[in-house]
Amino acid sequence: MGLPTIYTYRAAEVGLNVNSYLIETASGVVVLDTNLLVSDIAALRARLDALKKPLVAVFVTHAHPDHFNGILDLVRDREVPVYAGRGVAEVIEEIADAKRRQWSPTYGAEWPAETYYPNTLLSDGESVTIDDLSVSIRELGPGESHADSYYVVSGDWAHPVLFIGDLAFQRTHPYTADGHTSAWLDTLDALASELADMAVLYPGHGDPAGPADLDDQRRYLLYYREVVRRLADGQASLTDAAKTQLEQAMRAFLPNAPLTWMIGLGADAVAAELAAETNPPNR
Ligand SMILES: [Zn+2]
Repeated sequence: MGLPTIYTYRAAEVGLNVNSYLIETASGVVVLDTNLLVSDIAALRARLDALKKPLVAVFVTHAHPDHFNGILDLVRDREVPVYAGRGVAEVIEEIADAKRRQWSPTYGAEWPAETYYPNTLLSDGESVTIDDLSVSIRELGPGESHADSYYVVSGDWAHPVLFIGDLAFQRTHPYTADGHTSAWLDTLDALASELADMAVLYPGHGDPAGPADLDDQRRYLLYYREVVRRLADGQASLTDAAKTQLEQAMRAFLPNAPLTWMIGLGADAVAAELAAETNPPNR
C-alpha cells in the first residue's frame, strides 16, 4: 500500500502560510494542526466537510496559535478527542489569552474569540490507534515554541510519515521570538540521527521535505544567531538600524522566502537570549 491520503490546507501569507493536514482513514478524518485566522479556519472546515467523513481526532504539534486557534470551530459541539503532548497543552493554557490580547489589534475579528483547549493529553512516546493508523508523539520541550513535539504516523505502508510542526520551516523565515534558539539547535542536533531514515517530513510552514530540512533550519538559526550577536554587541536588544541590517542579511541568506517580518520580530528575543548566555544570571 502507498502513503496515506493526506490533504493540505495552507493559509495565505497573511495567515502565515500555515499548513493544516487532513488524513483520511477508513471511518473518518484526522486533522493535524488547525490554522490561525477565522477565514482560514472556515476554509479548513469546508475542506473537512467536503470529505464527507466525520472528524475523528485533532492533533496539535506545538504551543502556537497558528496551530491551535482553529480547534473550536472544527470540533464545535462534537465530542472529538483533541490530542496534544502534556507540555504542549500546558503552555497553550498559559499563553492563549495573552496571545489574543497581543494580536487582536492586528487581526481584529480574524482572531478567534475563544480557545478550545486540547482535551486528551499524551505523554512522550504514547501512541493512539485510529482505524489502521498509529499516531505516536515525541515531546521535545522548548525550541521554536515554549513546547514543541512531533507526530509519527504509521500504517501498512513502507515508511512512517512525520508531522514536525515548526521544528523546521521549509524555505520560510522562521519565528524565533520565543527566544529558545539554543534549545532549538540542540533539538535539531538530536533529531538529525533520530529521524535520518524518515522518508517524508510534513512541516507547519512550507512543502513536505526530507530530513535535510532539519539541516537547513539548523544552518539558518546558526547564521541568525551570529548576525544578531555581532549587531547586538552584548546588549539584550537591537536598534532599529541593526534590525534593518539583520533583515537584509537574512533575506540574502534565504532569498525569495516568505514571512520576512519574522526576521525583525524575533531579533530582541534572540539578542536577550545571547546576552543571557554570555552573562548567565545567578552564577
Ligand atoms: Zn507555525
